[in-house]
Amino acid sequence: MNELRLGAVLTRRFTRVAWTGLAGYALLVVALFAAAAEMALRRSLEHSADLTQSLLGAYRDSTSEPGGVMPSALADRLVAMGGQVVITRTTTGISGKQDVYFVSPDMPARRLEGLPASASPDDVRRVLLAAIAQRARWRYRVLHRAAGAFDIYVVASRESYVVALGALAAAAALLLPGAGLAVARGARQAVAGALRPLERVAAETRAIGPAELGTRLTSPTGQAEVTELADSVNRMLERVDRAHRALEAFTADASHELRTPLTHLRAQVQWAAAEGRSEAETRDALGAMERVLDRTAKLVEELLVIARGENRQLALAHAPFELTAVVDEVREITEAMALGRDLAVQATPSAPRWALGDADRTRHILLNLASNAVRYTSTGSITFGLETNGKMVGVSVRDTGLGIPPEHVERIFDRFFRVDQSRSRDLGGSGLGLAIARLFAELQGGHITVQSTPGAGSTFTVWLPAAESPRRPPP
Ligand code: ADP
Repeated sequence: MNELRLGAVLTRRFTRVAWTGLAGYALLVVALFAAAAEMALRRSLEHSADLTQSLLGAYRDSTSEPGGVMPSALADRLVAMGGQVVITRTTTGISGKQDVYFVSPDMPARRLEGLPASASPDDVRRVLLAAIAQRARWRYRVLHRAAGAFDIYVVASRESYVVALGALAAAAALLLPGAGLAVARGARQAVAGALRPLERVAAETRAIGPAELGTRLTSPTGQAEVTELADSVNRMLERVDRAHRALEAFTADASHELRTPLTHLRAQVQWAAAEGRSEAETRDALGAMERVLDRTAKLVEELLVIARGENRQLALAHAPFELTAVVDEVREITEAMALGRDLAVQATPSAPRWALGDADRTRHILLNLASNAVRYTSTGSITFGLETNGKMVGVSVRDTGLGIPPEHVERIFDRFFRVDQSRSRDLGGSGLGLAIARLFAELQGGHITVQSTPGAGSTFTVWLPAAESPRRPPP
């Protein structure tokens, strides 16, 4: 996939924003300049209008007649103002006809020609403007002021500042590409600098292979988000490393566990194959070999269950079943296991309880707990009980055996962990029983808890999701 690099994307966006900003700024400067110039121009026009109005006040009488003559003093002043001022006077004749005269530097007052009969002040203004300037309108600014029968028009050219404005706009247009290039370059450098920690994290992550699971990414990185990323990767590495080490330990333990019976078998075979063994001795040896083979087959079977369970390849039922019935069954088997021992097997009476899950796997869990109880209890009792806690229903197996030292309680569910290696092995334990029991409980949405006092006994409780007891059909 042809994806853009983050650096390129950021630089492009940054440059675009900078360009827009610069161009907007240039436009603003030009517009502000134009507005200021226009304001100055207007102020000067107002000033001229004020002056003209005051002159007009002083000479009003002399121009009261239509076609009257403009006093030479006023005309002189107007000429001195550069011909920028025109004064019009509107009179209404006996017939009601409107006449407009204009006085300007060239005397005497003249009637404005080409006006329609019903000329409005706006029409007058338009005709006047045409008379004043035949060129494009925007180049002139006209200020109009009404003073009684007179109308004063002051005209000024915008040319003086338009040139400066043009120069300013040209300078902005010429400098903008340069500024844009400088900004793009700065953006590229800034972005590259900002992305450096991220690139370092990527490079360090790439360098971690199966053999370097113990290494961690450098943190802090100098950037909060990148540090968060590095820390998340580090936490993931921690988990992967732990799982990897557990797997290695499991493989080593499993090999070790399998080697022991094989060594045993070889010794038996060698002993049996030696010269001068009687038939009875050979049969004994074969019997011992069969027991070792049985135990090895069981071990391999358990290893397979664990492997499948962890890969979620075990098919477990998910249906309501009567837990009380399973407990009764297990209790009966436990009684058989405890035959000939100084052990009382009992169950606390309880109403029928239902659980949601797999009855066979639950029986497996309970048999495992019960056989442990029988194995690790020399005298006393084993008691089955049922309890509920919210939406869970639990079966407890309590014994009065040797208990588990507190420092080992956490580990007894680990594969191949035994408090007393040789003793457990002598008792026929593989060290996988509780690991499988916990796996089965968890696959059913449950868990196992332990309470144990060394020398006094242990209580293991399997918790499973409770189910409603289905209504029994009437007999
Ligand atoms: P094993 O096959 O060795 O019994 P388990 O996984 O069933 O393996 O149990 C792991 C270890 O936990 C045992 O070796 C034993 O030391 C301890 N353990 C389990 N159940 C009990 C119990 N009821 N009383 C005392 N110790 C127990």
